[in-house]
Amino acid sequence: MVNEKMHALGVEPSAIRELFAYGLARKAEIGAEKVFDFSLGNPSVPAPDAVRQAAQELLALPPAALHGYSPAQGVPSARAAVADSLNRRFGTAYSADDLYMTCGAAASLDITFHALVLSEGDEVIVISPYFPEYKIWIEAAGARCVEVPAREADFQPDIDALRAAITERTRAVVINSPNNPVGTVYSRESLEALAALLRASSEQYGTPLYLVSDEPYREIAYAGVDVPWVPSIYENTIVCYSYSKSLSLPGERIGWILVPPTAADARAVYAAVCGAGRALGFVCAPVLFQRVIEACVDEPSDVAAYAENRELLCKGLSDLGYEYIEPQGAFYLWVRALEPDAEAFAERAKAHELLLIPSDSFGVKGWVRIGYCVSKDVIERSMPAFAALAKEYAQA
Ligand code: PLP
Repeated sequence: MVNEKMHALGVEPSAIRELFAYGLARKAEIGAEKVFDFSLGNPSVPAPDAVRQAAQELLALPPAALHGYSPAQGVPSARAAVADSLNRRFGTAYSADDLYMTCGAAASLDITFHALVLSEGDEVIVISPYFPEYKIWIEAAGARCVEVPAREADFQPDIDALRAAITERTRAVVINSPNNPVGTVYSRESLEALAALLRASSEQYGTPLYLVSDEPYREIAYAGVDVPWVPSIYENTIVCYSYSKSLSLPGERIGWILVPPTAADARAVYAAVCGAGRALGFVCAPVLFQRVIEACVDEPSDVAAYAENRELLCKGLSDLGYEYIEPQGAFYLWVRALEPDAEAFAERAKAHELLLIPSDSFGVKGWVRIGYCVSKDVIERSMPAFAALAKEYAQA
C-alpha cells in the first residue's frame, strides 16, 4: 500500500515532461535535427563564466569547509549578499534574517504555501494560465487551488474577477511576472490595483492576505520593460526567487524566499518558513551553489540570445498569419491554436515534428506554448514546419 495521491502524481507525468520525453525518443529515432522541441523551459544560454570561475575557486577550499552543512536557512554570508544586492537594486533595507535559501523556486513555493496555509480547505488563488505545479504544491499544503482567469485582452490580472474569488478562506494570491506561459510582465498599474484589492480584502476579513510573487524570470525582460519590485507596491508580499533561469542553473537547485520585514507578522511568517523547510526536508540548500551565488549575486542575465530568438519567432509566425501575445519577458510565446481544441492542434503539430505544449496544461483552452529557450537554428529550421501546419488548416 502506498499513498494514493502521491502514487497518482508519480505515475502521471506532467504534459510538459511527457512531451519532452517523446521529443528525446523521436530525436533518437529520426535524428535530432528533424525534431523541433519547444516543450521545456530549460535555458539554452550557458551559465555566465563568473559562475564557473567561482565554482572552480570554491572547489579549491578544504572539503570540510566546502561540503559541510550550512544552517538550515542557508549560509549567513550568502543571505547577506542577496539582501545587500536587493537593497542596492530596489532601495530596500533587507537583512540576511529576512532570507531563506532554497532548492530553486519549486522549493520556495512549496515551503511558502505550507507556511501560509492555516487549515485544510483554505484557499490560494492562482491566475490562469498558470504554471501547473502550483496546484500540486498548493494542494500538498492542504489548500484548495482557486483558478481566476487573467484578462482576456492582455493577460494582466483581472481585478474584478479576483475580487469575486476572494473569500474569508483565502490565504494568498500567487503571481508570476514575467509570466510563464504567456510572457507578460505585470504593469505597475496592475500591481497597484491588485495591492489596493488585497488591502481592502485583508481589512474586510480581518486577516492579512499575502501575495506570493514567483519570480524566476525577473531578470529576463525585453526592450527596457519595467519589472516592478512587488514588495514596494504591496507590503504583504513574499518573494520566491530562483537562479534556474536568470543564471541558467536549473540543475543546481538554488534560489531563495524573501519575507520582507514590512509584511504582516513578518517574524512569525519567517519562522513558519523555517518550520515548513524543516518539515519538507528543504534545509541547507546546496552549499557550493549558495557560495557561488554569494560571489555572483550581481551577475547580469544574458538576455540577448532570448531577445534574438523572440524576434525571429515573432516575425516568422506573424508572416505565416499566426496570432500570438508579444512577450515582454521570460522565454515563452503564447500562440493561438488554429482550432478550438489546443490538444488536437498540438497533436497535428507533432505530425510536423513541432513539439508545442497545449494550453490545457496551464488551465485554459485554445492556445499553445512555444518555449524559445532553444538554439536559434532550431527556430530557423522549424519555419517550414509551421508553414506546412498553417497551410494544412487553411486548406481544411
Ligand atoms: N515557477 C515558474 C513560473 C517556472 O516556470 C518554474 C520552472 O520552470 C518554476 C517556478 C520552478 O523553477 P525552479 O527550477 O527554480 O524550481
